[in-house]
Amino acid sequence: MLKVNPLGEVTQIMMGREMDGTVLYWTSAYLVDGLLIDTGCAYTVDELGEFLREQEVRQVVNTHHHEDHVGANSFIQQELGLKIYAHSLALPLINSRLPLREYQEMVWGYPEPTEVQLVPARISTSRYTFWVLETPGHSPDHISLFEPEQGWCFSGDLFVSENLKMLRADEDIDGILASLENLLSLPAEEMTLFTSLGRVFTEGKSSIRNFLAYLHGLREQVNRLAGESLTAPEIRDCIFGRETQMAALTGGHFSILNLVEQLLSGS
Ligand SMILES: [Zn+2]
Repeated sequence: MLKVNPLGEVTQIMMGREMDGTVLYWTSAYLVDGLLIDTGCAYTVDELGEFLREQEVRQVVNTHHHEDHVGANSFIQQELGLKIYAHSLALPLINSRLPLREYQEMVWGYPEPTEVQLVPARISTSRYTFWVLETPGHSPDHISLFEPEQGWCFSGDLFVSENLKMLRADEDIDGILASLENLLSLPAEEMTLFTSLGRVFTEGKSSIRNFLAYLHGLREQVNRLAGESLTAPEIRDCIFGRETQMAALTGGHFSILNLVEQLLSGS
């Protein structure tokens, strides 16, 4: 399924595989002044392709190599003849058929490997100039795009919620924290954060500050309990009650325990 939300100059393109009338997981791409940021998953290529044929798309960026961000790359290169850019670490990953877990295969599917180009430090469209920022943490190859005049930041999967409760097993919480501090130092009084989960934070800097305060508080709590000789699963149960269903559905790839362990390992 594909839903288009006009947000002023920015068009949000929400995509997700539909099963039994339910979308399993929404991922958002954005189109702004001919620049497409991310390309959805393998299951929504046809719908995105149909939409893009009616638009003036001139260039494309992948925020990172994950399968829900590069799904229509092959279509875009072959059918629309457009260049796609990504971080240097992402280039070999996007050009490989990476193994997926069972749940990833079901929700997003395998993208066609594609040869994409190294993203430049700035991307200009006819009206805007985007700074390309290295924002590792969610993945090592993650980039965000910042438009200083408008105060826009397209932050991919870096920031999803002010009170994050789960982490992927391969995420690096200290990398996420450092990348968010970098976003706070950008020259904009406030910023609009456009996220891949679809939420748009109009007071993005305030939301990031709230998240940092929450996470530092959580880390203190985790450490205090570790100091009382509780194990990571015990700390999880003490703070959050118990693990969420996501952990079982993803074989532990997304879990509260991952977050607790990351907070412990970085302390
Ligand atoms: Zn991701």
